[in-house]
Amino acid sequence: MLGDEERGTERALVRESLRYEDLPEGGEQRSRPEVTQGAKRRVHDADGPFRAERARMKTEAMVLLGHGGPEALVRQAIELGEPGPREVRIRVRAVALNHLDLWVRRGGPAFKLEFPHRLGSDIAGEVEAVGPGARGVTVGERVLVHPGVSCGVCGACKSGSDNLCRSYRILGENTQGGYAEHVVVGDDAVLPIGAQPWAEAAALPLCTVTAWQMAYRKGAVAPGMTVLVNAAGSGVSTMLIQLCKLAGARVIATTTSAGKVEHARALGADEVLLTSEEELTAGVRRLTGKLGVDVAFDHLGGEPFEKTLAALRWGGRVVTCGATAGFHPNFDLRTVFFKQLEIRGSTMGTKGDLVSAMALVQAGRLRPVVDRVMPLWDAAEAHRVLERREAFGKVVLEVP
Ligand SMILES: [Zn+2]
Repeated sequence: MLGDEERGTERALVRESLRYEDLPEGGEQRSRPEVTQGAKRRVHDADGPFRAERARMKTEAMVLLGHGGPEALVRQAIELGEPGPREVRIRVRAVALNHLDLWVRRGGPAFKLEFPHRLGSDIAGEVEAVGPGARGVTVGERVLVHPGVSCGVCGACKSGSDNLCRSYRILGENTQGGYAEHVVVGDDAVLPIGAQPWAEAAALPLCTVTAWQMAYRKGAVAPGMTVLVNAAGSGVSTMLIQLCKLAGARVIATTTSAGKVEHARALGADEVLLTSEEELTAGVRRLTGKLGVDVAFDHLGGEPFEKTLAALRWGGRVVTCGATAGFHPNFDLRTVFFKQLEIRGSTMGTKGDLVSAMALVQAGRLRPVVDRVMPLWDAAEAHRVLERREAFGKVVLEVP
């Protein structure tokens, strides 16, 4: 049986899974992150009530004082509590941007943030202090942080599907994130990175777990398949291209920018469709002998999703993890059942997925793609770079 509090959390997460569509304000109130189930046990919010009695330190951060444009990001000193039981304080060295940061910054009815709010889901840094009972980490260790925070005790968590946990949260989205010199996280979120450069490590977590689940679980990509990866320059797509090649698939990638074609090929894409010059469905038909692709990966939604659906072969599937180009694609349901198509939704991946992916990274078979590195204090300009879609791969903020 779910308690009232958990039901509230579930509703909140369903709202968030709608990817930030403007939703009507109901009587229900979204639970604040620090009072959701699990949060009581492992608080990630420096300003939460559970830290009031603990010693606090000052640290510099880029915070949102309210929703708005890039200019809403301001530098500010914040107070951070000492790490609690099984928590770890990280000296942040690099934090990567995600499209998620833009959604959260802009705001909407789905967000009930406590300001000042710190964005930042992808964190790499050094372990600086450990709380009582923290395991598996040592002070001084170089680590990255898994951005998914789950309760650890529910059925989904215990069965290894922590990203299906009803109190699942993402660092920087509905907890305080890593746009700061320091952050406190649970010991279970920390993975060692060896000698990997900070910016590369920070570029990995969110897009890599997302791509891993999409390619290998939802997409079930297998040798000999032909797959379509939309918007090759996004972080998740740079990983999808590589993961699908590792699985032995033929990869068709798309981009609207001629300047990104060679980058996509360098990652292993067999074909790159320049969709500013050739219509996507027609291009896929040309490259597949009119057959269509076995699996397509999309995070654009809107009209590109419609064209992607039309580019599937009979019995093919599309895996979707985003909707930056529109929440309400128009398609004829008859094509879905006549052609026996599958539409599979995907959000994040499990902690285990990141462990699997990191083994490939450390073996040199999967590489993070960093477009540029900027100082944390230039976060506003970094957001503009992402909004202008200039980057191929990740925009990373380094924390001096
Ligand atoms: Zn759980």
